[in-house]
Amino acid sequence: MKDLSQRVVVCGAGGFIGGHLVRDLLAQGYKHVRAVDQKPIDQWYQIFPNAENMQLDLSEKPACYKALKDSAYVYNLAADMGGMGFIETHKALCMLSVLINTHLLMAAKDCGVNRFFYSSSACVYNGEKQISPDVIPLKEADAYPAMPEDGYGWEKLFSERMCRHFREDFNLITRVARYHNVYGPDGTWEGGREKAPAAICRKVITAKLSGDHNIEIWGDGHQTRSFMYISDCLKGTQDILWSNIIEPINLGSSEIVTINGLVDIVESIAGIKLKRKYNLSAPKGVNGRNSDNTLIQKLLGWEPSVKLRTGLEATYAWIYNQMTDKNARKVR
Ligand code: NAD
Repeated sequence: MKDLSQRVVVCGAGGFIGGHLVRDLLAQGYKHVRAVDQKPIDQWYQIFPNAENMQLDLSEKPACYKALKDSAYVYNLAADMGGMGFIETHKALCMLSVLINTHLLMAAKDCGVNRFFYSSSACVYNGEKQISPDVIPLKEADAYPAMPEDGYGWEKLFSERMCRHFREDFNLITRVARYHNVYGPDGTWEGGREKAPAAICRKVITAKLSGDHNIEIWGDGHQTRSFMYISDCLKGTQDILWSNIIEPINLGSSEIVTINGLVDIVESIAGIKLKRKYNLSAPKGVNGRNSDNTLIQKLLGWEPSVKLRTGLEATYAWIYNQMTDKNARKVR
């Protein structure tokens, strides 16, 4: 039973999803929210003085024991990650995130943690099932036989299995969601780790502000994806932690869009039309990916539902403010 007086720990709280989760947990009335990240606290996307904020490198085992001391519930959102531009060029760094989840699981077992959530990714899915833009939505069984995204995807798949075996062998209650592209305000929008929705917003805003009405698009623009708004991610993450779903489950939108379609929407929000240049040698990931939500519908009676246009309006507005308001708190 969820008990708001028990300590909940958010690992990766200085990042995009972690920052939103801390806000949400505090709003629900959790009395002891511990927020942990390796970045200096003044560089976190969101900082809450009524949380217990700790700067710790969770790849180190003693740091994980410190982070989870006297805690009941743990969300592990800490990882060295970014969009395709980052994960295709930093495979070793992505794989080193295995240290974070491994040491956190060991600490969770020894500290008597009650429930442990792990944020996996659609990058665990077999690449051969994502060759065509006209993709059949990925269902949970499509992760095996294993042929995930090199580096990042292999780490996620391995860490999923660590969660499974800690549950089976040590009775630690672990839950795993496979996120499909999450977007929203208060996340990375420049610097090389940003993902497609934020990158496209930034490029469209740059074009609008500069008057140079050209945009570079990675790939041929026909790649398909689905994008989940942050509020859906927060609900799904917590519902999965508190569910009896023991196998990794998709958490993503099933509203499929091409990258060209994504640019169309952002252009229409901005009220501008740009000349598109396609960079075919840029990192672009798989050709097609969408989330099959049959299982989450069956087990939770719910699936992410915020329309892409709605979520992008909020994301665009936040990035616009970051780029134009001198007084906006800027985090990079
Ligand atoms: P993010 O990069 O904004 O946040 C991750 C945070 O983890 C960062 O603040 C980073 O400083 C922290 N971190 C990294 N190494 C650490 C360490 N050694 N010790 C402590 N903190 C460390 O990413 P996000 O978008 O918020 O993603 C959260 C989780 O969700 C990650 O595990 C990610 O792989 C997963 N995920 C995200 C998406 C997405 O679209 N955003 C999709 C699939 C999976």
